[in-house]
Amino acid sequence: MNVLHGVVRACGLVKVHGQGPSRVRAVDTVDLEVPQGETVAVMGPSGCGKSTLLHLLSGLERPTGGEVWLADQRIDILSEQALARLRRRSVGFVFQAFHLVEELSAAENVELPLLLAGHSWREARRRASLLLERVALADRVRHLPSQLSGGQRQRVAIARALANDPLVVLADEPTGNLDTAATLDVLRIFEDLRSAGQTLVIVTHDERVAATADRLISMRDGMFVDDTRLAGTGTGRLGRLIGLEG
Ligand code: ADP
Ligand code: MG
Repeated sequence: MNVLHGVVRACGLVKVHGQGPSRVRAVDTVDLEVPQGETVAVMGPSGCGKSTLLHLLSGLERPTGGEVWLADQRIDILSEQALARLRRRSVGFVFQAFHLVEELSAAENVELPLLLAGHSWREARRRASLLLERVALADRVRHLPSQLSGGQRQRVAIARALANDPLVVLADEPTGNLDTAATLDVLRIFEDLRSAGQTLVIVTHDERVAATADRLISMRDGMFVDDTRLAGTGTGRLGRLIGLEG
């Protein structure tokens, strides 16, 4: 793995959406390097290109210009098939609206990416059970998403994102639909991931989420307008925030 050059890298990244008068440069010449184990928060007004950026970094969308690298692999030039494979194995994506499969139980939702990556049923079940324990849902494995709270659904989605031990977890407003208690549960999980050395990029509107990151990037009109290293340890910051919550 290319630790020296960061787990996630983008150079001169551009994404143009639409045509003619509705043409918009959603991402406008962005350079980014995220080292192994770093937690980066990305903030900015609605429509400034945050989701597009995450989609480009995960290979969900292709850039109009520039390069995207995951570890030592340039991903924007891969075939559809190779890209799908890489996304499945190397990227964990967490959505604001959870995007769980409603017909499948919590455990089955987590097993799915493991089976798609070629693990046996037995191994998938074993690993899903460990992951659901890790997000404190050991007692909800057989529940359907409709039988879970928003916070519990998001924890299942995080377990699913972690299933194949991804190089990076990308989260798009992961607490946007959650109340304060559920937000703090999700923050605790991100803290745990961070301590375990997981590389994380989190798009958020929530100051509490941003405050737990190592680094805060501000975006406007598709560009990075600020990139600041935050002081102190995440755990210390989260501890203070929980203290503030009383
Ligand atoms: P954010 O996540 O910061 O709210 P987005 O990345 O969703 O911003 O959108 C950035 C800009 O690109 C917005 O102007 C949005 O309307 C536009 N956009 C996003 N996706 C598409 C698309 N598929 N087609 C056309 N325009 C899009
Ligand atoms: Mg968005």
